[in-house]
Amino acid sequence: MRHAARDYSLTPLNIYWEVTQACALACRHCRASAMPDAHPRQLSHEEGVAFIRQIPQFGDPMPTLILTGGDPLERHDLLPLIDEARRLGVDVSITPAATGALTKEVLATLAAHGVSGLGLSLDGSTAERHDAIRGIRGTYERTLAAIGWAGELGLPVQVNTLVTAGTAADIPAVYELLESMPLTRWSLFFLISVGRGTLLEPLSPRDGEEFMAWVHKISSAAPFVVATTEAPSYRRVAIEQMRAAGLTAEQTRRSRVARSFGVRDGHGVMFVSHLGEICPAGFLPIPVGDVRTDSIVEVYRDAPLFKSLHDPRQLTGRCHHCQHQQICGGSRARAYAAHGDPLAEDPFCPHIPPHYTRTPQPVEAAR
Ligand code: SF4
Repeated sequence: MRHAARDYSLTPLNIYWEVTQACALACRHCRASAMPDAHPRQLSHEEGVAFIRQIPQFGDPMPTLILTGGDPLERHDLLPLIDEARRLGVDVSITPAATGALTKEVLATLAAHGVSGLGLSLDGSTAERHDAIRGIRGTYERTLAAIGWAGELGLPVQVNTLVTAGTAADIPAVYELLESMPLTRWSLFFLISVGRGTLLEPLSPRDGEEFMAWVHKISSAAPFVVATTEAPSYRRVAIEQMRAAGLTAEQTRRSRVARSFGVRDGHGVMFVSHLGEICPAGFLPIPVGDVRTDSIVEVYRDAPLFKSLHDPRQLTGRCHHCQHQQICGGSRARAYAAHGDPLAEDPFCPHIPPHYTRTPQPVEAAR
């Protein structure tokens, strides 16, 4: 509920820091195209600490710092970085890779250092399906074990699941698997064609609508929050379904899905790369600043790209004319991947706003 009072044009909800690109896995959809070793110019410990010390300058409520990668466990100074964030009162979550380095002891250490959330990826209902995407056998078993360990340690877990044309039919079986597990949140990530993700096929807009209708159907009875990543048009689908079911505007406003209203790439989200580049999102890799030299607060509030992303009236195509632009605004990352323009319409959404008479913007490029 604390999210409701936040002005996303002033303060992001989440800052994602890619602490390293080093990772032992070779996931087929990796945004980072992660490598076995760290880049020689990745942020040093001192530079990382200096960046973390900027976060409180956003004021209260502060963003949550989400340590991602690569594999954050590959950073040898991970615990001192977490300690510094916690010392400043910054909430820290982490998304480790499911390698042999991810043990119950490591999770217990992270919890003891004040990490308040764990993000794990589960992309298939069977070892064969999951490991085929993750690139290494054994990650399925380790992921399920880590979910169980986190449950025993009282560490809240979010599971992230990739949605593509090839995985969508298996997602109901993933849900059945997760239903009995100690999750707080299940986030369905709709493929963006960047990094290694260009090798996979995204869902078509029509199949996406059907899939999102299923997501909304199961979300009300799910024992955890069900959310989407890079599919803000799910909010429109959910609203349409709630209206059709006779819910009032107030009931819609108080629904679980309403907690994400308004958040989109660069608006509620900021990404810092392993090299210190400040981008609107991990899947929107347009650097507009550098934490080594720039104020993250000034970049987030005043850099022209962030200012455009804070203002949905600057969107173009159907998103510009859409009655849902304030709560949705489309995936800016997918717009950039498809059109080369982060303010273009989201090609995954088939919605035609009332009175909109032009044809959808042509998709020019798959980056
Ligand atoms: S047209 Fe754009 S703003 Fe409207 S629902 Fe679709 S993606 Fe969202």
